[in-house]
Amino acid sequence: MLKGKVAVVTGSTSGIGLGVARALAAKGADIMLNGFGDPAEIEKIKTGIASEFGVRTAYSGADLSKPAETKGLIEAATSELGKVDILVNNAGIQVVSPVQDFPDDKWELVLSINLSAAFYAIKAVVPQMQARNWGRIINIASVHGLVASVNKAAYVSAKHGLVGLTKVVALENAETGVTCNAICPGWVLTPLVQKQIDAWAERESISNEEAGRRLLTEKQPSKQFVTPAQLGELAVFMCSDAASQLRGAAINMDGGWYAQ
Ligand code: NAD
Repeated sequence: MLKGKVAVVTGSTSGIGLGVARALAAKGADIMLNGFGDPAEIEKIKTGIASEFGVRTAYSGADLSKPAETKGLIEAATSELGKVDILVNNAGIQVVSPVQDFPDDKWELVLSINLSAAFYAIKAVVPQMQARNWGRIINIASVHGLVASVNKAAYVSAKHGLVGLTKVVALENAETGVTCNAICPGWVLTPLVQKQIDAWAERESISNEEAGRRLLTEKQPSKQFVTPAQLGELAVFMCSDAASQLRGAAINMDGGWYAQ
């Protein structure tokens, strides 16, 4: 289904991004990986996806808190894999603090990675997508792009902004073959969430398992984590012909979180 297409997935060395990269590769897309981590581990992911799915893979360690490196990521994908048909803006971080104590530099960092990087990547990639009259831009927002929680001022602001950016880009390209949509996951058990579970366990002097259960019970009615593979399948759908009129949508896959 995606043979001959090239996908850039930001923050794909771990968690949801890796799940999305694997799902797109399983459908035949060549993949530009990005993100931080142990170089040997990243090399294993890169060669593993290539051999498991018979696709071309490349890797860029671009730091997406820096606009020039974000632009460089799109340039690297275009020169190494020939073009970019699918852009998945997934890289993101979380910082938790009440607003009055929220460190200024952390506010800037969360906004730069979770929101501004998507803007710079989209800006860099849209002209070539428009020239071919086909493109898929998928922004991994969050249920926190739709509702708020305490102590997440920067994250919630960035994710609401990302949903807004999704709508603007969708509208600007509405008469073209370029679509832009957002995916809004609830809790997914990745390193980003594990840190919050660990902090909860320490704060309440409970086990990590119990903290994980409480975290789910507080917000996610299914009491089950969403998986990176399930989110990957939603991204695959967004890349399909069936989704060609899905434009500016923010689809929540969240175990019922947003329905409450
Ligand atoms: P993760 O920590 O497992 O992965 C984050 C990825 O982003 C990693 O590959 C990391 O190296 C990369 N990254 C971080 N900073 C970067 C930078 N400056 N430049 C380039 N890459 C960078 O986290 P995850 O849970 O898989 O989160 C992925 C996305 O999904 C994020 O945008 C997050 O906000 C969103 N999300 C996660 C959940 C969840 O429950 N885990 C829920 C909703 C939304």
